[in-house]
Amino acid sequence: MTDVLFSSQGPEPELPRQGMTSRVPATPPRPRNASQHIATQRNTARLRLRVRLARRPGLAWPRHGHGHDHGMAMIVSMASIIVVRAASTPERRRGSSNAMCSRRLRACTAIDPRDVSSGTSNPRPRRSDGESPTSLQLLALSAPVLFALPCFALHCIALHGIALHCIALHCIVYSIASHRIASHRIASHRRADPAGEEASQAPFVELQNPNEDQDQDQDHNQEGQARAGGDKNMAGILAGAKALARGALRVARGDEEARRASMARRGLSAMVNQADNKLLKPVRLVSSRSLAKARPRIVIVGSGWGGYSFLSYIDKKKYDVQVISPSNHFLFTPLLPSSVVGTLEFRAIQEPVRTVRNLGAYYQAKALSVDENTRQITCKGIFSGDEFRVEYDFLVCAAGAKTNTFNTPGIADREGKEVFFLKHLHHARQIRNRILECFERAAIHLTDDAERDRLLTFVVVGGGPTSCELVGELRDFIRNDVAKWYPDLQDYISIHLVEAQSRLLGSFDESVAKIVERRFRRRNIQLHLGASVTGFDPETGITKLSDGSGIPTGMLVWSAGLEQTRFVQDGLDGVEKGPGKRIIIDDHLRVSDPDNKFDNRFFALGDCAINMETPLAPLAQVAGQQAKWLAKAFNEAPTGVGLVAPAAQVFKPDSDPFAFFSLGSMLTFGGFQGAVDFTQVGKQNEESNLGALSGFLSFAMWRSAYLLRQNSWTNRILIPMYWFKSFLLGRDISRF
Ligand SMILES: Cc1cc2nc3c(=O)[nH]c(=O)nc-3n(C[C@H](O)[C@H](O)[C@H](O)COP(=O)(O)OP(=O)(O)OC[C@H]3O[C@@H](n4cnc5c(N)ncnc54)[C@H](O)[C@@H]3O)c2cc1C
Repeated sequence: MTDVLFSSQGPEPELPRQGMTSRVPATPPRPRNASQHIATQRNTARLRLRVRLARRPGLAWPRHGHGHDHGMAMIVSMASIIVVRAASTPERRRGSSNAMCSRRLRACTAIDPRDVSSGTSNPRPRRSDGESPTSLQLLALSAPVLFALPCFALHCIALHGIALHCIALHCIVYSIASHRIASHRIASHRRADPAGEEASQAPFVELQNPNEDQDQDQDHNQEGQARAGGDKNMAGILAGAKALARGALRVARGDEEARRASMARRGLSAMVNQADNKLLKPVRLVSSRSLAKARPRIVIVGSGWGGYSFLSYIDKKKYDVQVISPSNHFLFTPLLPSSVVGTLEFRAIQEPVRTVRNLGAYYQAKALSVDENTRQITCKGIFSGDEFRVEYDFLVCAAGAKTNTFNTPGIADREGKEVFFLKHLHHARQIRNRILECFERAAIHLTDDAERDRLLTFVVVGGGPTSCELVGELRDFIRNDVAKWYPDLQDYISIHLVEAQSRLLGSFDESVAKIVERRFRRRNIQLHLGASVTGFDPETGITKLSDGSGIPTGMLVWSAGLEQTRFVQDGLDGVEKGPGKRIIIDDHLRVSDPDNKFDNRFFALGDCAINMETPLAPLAQVAGQQAKWLAKAFNEAPTGVGLVAPAAQVFKPDSDPFAFFSLGSMLTFGGFQGAVDFTQVGKQNEESNLGALSGFLSFAMWRSAYLLRQNSWTNRILIPMYWFKSFLLGRDISRF
């Protein structure tokens, strides 16, 4: 019986190798002496283990020889290294280290000198520029120590393949798990060496928290707790942090003079005094070498179409780009009406600011004012309300505009209750919740008919594309989804659209407006053209119109006008303003500055800016094109321009001014219908009339255009999935 591998009685025979036939001897050779007997017994035990492992699924002994097995192990190892490296990209390392630093390194907080505010009580923690260890270093550190012995043992008993698999698995599991902790530990050690080369190159000053003693006690406690909890890594990190604080203090004493000189050179003497006297004591100095290496800083105010587009296009290796915005994401506004009724989910139409590669810093705050003399922006954190300052070399203002209620009584007061705006992502969520609340309230059997009528009457104010898209989406939602889930309420539902002008869609060609009006009337949407809303009575829930009529209203969406943000209106004293208090800019997007107070370092674009000679509508494509044009100019400018040369040198002497190129306008108005207006396509003042389209084809063009315009693959995948889901399975009607 040549194929028998294992006999249950007596010692196991040797396993046959590939390409080799093995006849099993009927009886094993008898040992000649005691040592031979022991050796034979060991061999037998090895064989038993091998055969047992060979019988287990998943640990099968290679049938195609070692080459195959080793090859697999190599592939797994390579894959593991790729996974580990991907898990430790600079962005991730930065994110995790910032989070850890802010929690653990309170005793010594690293602050960029240009960020320090006169009033901040909350200095911004920043990572040292010392490089974090690579994953391969970590593998090299950790792998041999923990796994060498077991792997060697397996190797000794000839289980080479399993040993290699163990190493590969270890690479994946252990390295990912240990990466974050180990990188912090090594980074702490590097930073704790104040005389070190890397420390001296860090392009920022580290400032000591005046409450150091208190914080040290706190850290002692934390360290103790960490030890008590067996968290030795944490204890190590805390010890590293304390060493860092002590080292930094030493350097501060020695370099006090140089620090003052250097900071004064940078125009920060006031800040130094304030920091010394009040809050923060600088303890480490930026060396002149690191200053020379520093990149010009561009601060962007706003993360909307203008701000985010500029951030995406600007060369972040050449400039230190920082963003101040109360929204930590970019919102794809053209798809906002779709998210109101659940055709799309909120998360699919936004992009987080922090995921932009090589972003210098992001502050979730509102800009309050700009000081052109010190080149500082005063900001207010949206969580703590603390004020702080950020210094800039160049400032790009893309603060957009906010909804204008024209002081209509009852509108601003009832915002978030019965009245809603449609500008930000949270507005869409509020509207969706209110719609569903109205339906649930109306569905309660105790609600009388009049109240049901009121609750299910939705009023949209404004006849622009946003309002028309919202009305179309609402109509689809009611027809396709509400009919299914609230069949008894259908007769109570009504939608009103109020527009002060005599026609809808003032910015579109009249033929498009006519088509939309006709379609809305056919779908029982009540149009109030030439009437304006004069007030909302919260007691009765009635929307009052200028023609004297009133609409009992369950929900009112106000999408009827724009005004400038408080920052633009009140925070920019030295800046010339145009109609609607928009910032006046020249043809190179520089703010109009006859006295040259801003040294040509202040740019504005998007909804907050206007060029008086060639005014443009507040549109996403305008803001996007301006941002791209400006970023290109900066990218082509000579390096170091911000620190040494006047900003005028951003532009080449013969550079062309910004010129808007209109791509036409699009909208959808429900029922898989859309309209495309190509009547004014091309360069400003040289537009061509390519006609207008409407119908399903326009709808498909609208969807395709906005899908292609997405910045991330996440949204390029999510958006069609949600479209498909809402078409096939309906919209989500949960309220949360
Ligand atoms: C629902 C809706 C649909 C739209 N659809 C279209 C469309 O289909 N096509 C089109 O061309 N246009 C459309 N628009 C208009 C378009 O969104 C705007 O023209 C465009 O967003 C303007 O870009 P922006 O960068 O100037 O301002 P925004 O995109 O509004 O961005 C302003 C940013 O500044 C931030 N900000 C505000 N105040 C401060 C402050 N004090 N400090 C710091 N940051 C601040 C805001 O949080 C925001 O991030 C739509 C607008 C809306 C509301």
